[in-house]
Amino acid sequence: VQKFGGSSVADVEKIRACAKRAINEHKAGNRVVVVVSAMGKTTDQLITLAKDITPNPNKREMDMLMSTGEQVSISLLAMAIHHEGCPAISFTGGQVGLVTDNVHTKARIKTIDAERIIRHLEAGDIVIVAGFQGVDPDYNITTLGRGGSDTTAVALAAVLQADVCQIFTDVTGVFTADPRIVSEARKVNAISYDEMLELASLGAKVMHSRAIEFAKKYNVPIEVRHSHLEEEGTMITQETEDMEKVMVSGVALKKDLAKVTLRGVPDTPGIAADLFARLATTKVVVDDIIQTIQEPGMANIGFTIDHNDLPETEKLMDKIVKDLKCEGVSFESDVAKVSIVGVGMRTHVGVAEKMFRALADGKINIENISTSEICIGCLIKHEDAERALRLIHQAFGLDKIEQEEK
Ligand code: ADP
Ligand code: ASP
Ligand code: MG
Repeated sequence: VQKFGGSSVADVEKIRACAKRAINEHKAGNRVVVVVSAMGKTTDQLITLAKDITPNPNKREMDMLMSTGEQVSISLLAMAIHHEGCPAISFTGGQVGLVTDNVHTKARIKTIDAERIIRHLEAGDIVIVAGFQGVDPDYNITTLGRGGSDTTAVALAAVLQADVCQIFTDVTGVFTADPRIVSEARKVNAISYDEMLELASLGAKVMHSRAIEFAKKYNVPIEVRHSHLEEEGTMITQETEDMEKVMVSGVALKKDLAKVTLRGVPDTPGIAADLFARLATTKVVVDDIIQTIQEPGMANIGFTIDHNDLPETEKLMDKIVKDLKCEGVSFESDVAKVSIVGVGMRTHVGVAEKMFRALADGKINIENISTSEICIGCLIKHEDAERALRLIHQAFGLDKIEQEEK
């Protein structure tokens, strides 16, 4: 399975180049499925169009709109392959039985019926599938969340038991940090599913995090590489013993976060459960949760959410304040989270200290800290975000070509 991202199919020449890559694999005797994203910035432009019509567009209609971008690129790619004299056929998500739940704009894949794809592969076609989209059980078009074409590709690779899922993009692989922000970032040759999953969830948009969940569950090897350069990419695979030798594998940044703080919450059993049950009804995904005691019997509960979910959350919080008899609520739309990730954290000491020291030396205040077995995240001000990423990257020596273990 080969997946080409938006920048890889941004114009006619690039589409032709993708067609050639697929044809080369086909000629080498492989059965090839190609997943494509919308051309260039098409999805962004469609979203802008919708927002010009109404500030808060209906999500079902958003999916109807956004899914059109991929339909343009699949048909053009099929034509480009035909032009080279090779058989190919394009399908939308619904046409290959990609069924999702009904959570518009962030749907999750439930099932894929590979039968139609297999039939065409057996007939010798290159099969092209629109990324990012599916249908719910009532045939409403859904989308999988921004960057979701990666997930389409890996899910197809899983059901088809593909040898590999190649993700072709505009960078040569997975780097120790976003190379657009940290110019010293290095490409890594291999990274474990768990590390990539954390990096993706913590903001490294080179891969959609759901794609990595699928890859890990079904053991799909992923190769991330540049769409038009021949350089070898990064393999995302099962963890190997060597991987633990590195203290930190990568750093990531999530910029578009907002923080909600409920003040004066009665400190009694059941309040948190009630609060988050109500939030769950809106399908808003809550990131970190922070509870502090304000005074005896009174707590403050803070949590972070995606910036885009703020309008919906604001509406809901006013009612929650009244119902739960809280003092008040405040919103900060200028927070970011910087994180370090590495399976080596399990066996190294002093990792957290090094991260906090780097931030302290940069006079960057930490608003909250969250940890798991293989990552540490710090909530900071948006304005400090990129500087923090660079400072931490440097503190862990990730800019040095020769790391200790190599
Ligand atoms: P595509 O359109 O091909 O899906 P994306 O824009 O979604 O491409 O993802 C590629 C981008 O991810 C890169 O241009 C890079 O800026 C960004 N990125 C963020 N973190 C990383 C990282 N750790 N390694 C590589 N790229 C990263
Ligand atoms: N076109 C969609 C987006 O821009 C999906 C993708 O590119 O993966 O988010
Ligand atoms: Mg992407």
